Amino acid sequence: MNSFTYKDIYVEDGKRVLEINILPEKYCNFDCIFCPIGRSKNKIDTQTSFDEIDNSLNELESIIQDSKADLVFINSKGEAFVNDKISEIIDLITNKGLSVRLLSNGYLLGREQFIKIANKCDEVIGEIKVITEKDFQKVQRPIEGYTLEEYISNMVLFNKQYKGKFIFEITIIKGYNDDDESINKLKTIIGQISPDEVKIERMDDDIFKKKLGISDERYEEISNELLNN
Ligand code: SF4
Repeated sequence: MNSFTYKDIYVEDGKRVLEINILPEKYCNFDCIFCPIGRSKNKIDTQTSFDEIDNSLNELESIIQDSKADLVFINSKGEAFVNDKISEIIDLITNKGLSVRLLSNGYLLGREQFIKIANKCDEVIGEIKVITEKDFQKVQRPIEGYTLEEYISNMVLFNKQYKGKFIFEITIIKGYNDDDESINKLKTIIGQISPDEVKIERMDDDIFKKKLGISDERYEEISNELLNN
């Protein structure tokens, strides 16, 4: 059985994008209460070996060929870094002449082993959701010992040496980071990380939207503030 899954190819800025998940089930170093994938039974931050990788790599190779993709977006069920073959996967894609975009929640971008892997990618997305230590522990439920301060400084350190495009994705959550004080804190964090692009998201999933979603007006307001920072 192959362990990768794919989304239908789509076009973004004239590029054909192939989105791939490289984890057989959810593996993450966080266990966010609003995770669209559900609870983290496998809360880890070390690399793990999954079965049948050769079959999965062969399948990826032929999908790349058939789909005529320009960019492969590694967007997995959790933290893609924990697949111990991620480096091989990225090499396979880049050797075919395609660009790679990698989504990570960003915490592991401070570790040497993962910096090397992320540096192979043309684009890396790091994220932030809540912005107080208390909320980070309460709603993102990371592995013990993780701190918000380290989370941010990991992304700062990574981007200081990264040559590709670093995209910083901020999710605005009602009651957690949608007030003016939080927006000012987010501005400071953007300044520290100095990403190439900032993306503002909000809770769109139906099950979380009612409690954690913000209005269109507030979304516009916050986006204007943060993007014109
Ligand atoms: S970091 Fe992302 S994948 Fe991991 S638990 Fe949180 S929402 Fe889910």
